[in-house]
Amino acid sequence: MAQEHRTMICITCPRGCTLDVTVEGKTVVKVAGNNCQRGVDYAMAEVTDPRRMVTTTVRVKGGVHPLVPVYTEKPIPKPQIFALLAEARKVELTAPVKFGDIVMENVLGTGINVLASRNIPLKSKAP
Ligand code: SF4
Repeated sequence: MAQEHRTMICITCPRGCTLDVTVEGKTVVKVAGNNCQRGVDYAMAEVTDPRRMVTTTVRVKGGVHPLVPVYTEKPIPKPQIFALLAEARKVELTAPVKFGDIVMENVLGTGINVLASRNIPLKSKAP
């Protein structure tokens, strides 16, 4: 099988090493440009099962803000990101929402939860 070279930036730490990754099919043959082993691990994950943390917002009814920021508790497979965002658009929570509340459980069957990243208290009623 033919080998190909892919250039990617390791996003594991702020150093952002430029990796030269030699790939044969779905197998990483060689990684160069990394300053530590995590660069190799990153390149392998990118080739075999690329994932990303996702942040977005969902609607909240009756809260001091109409939206709450949320995030995936672990990186989810990249091909599922748009489906996750579409699911998040359908969600409407009811205030109060607490930091760390599970907003979407086992999203898209990934085994990963989407959590609230801030408190949204109830909006106080006018006297
Ligand atoms: S290869 Fe290591 S040092 Fe370079 S960006 Fe990745 S984690 Fe950081």
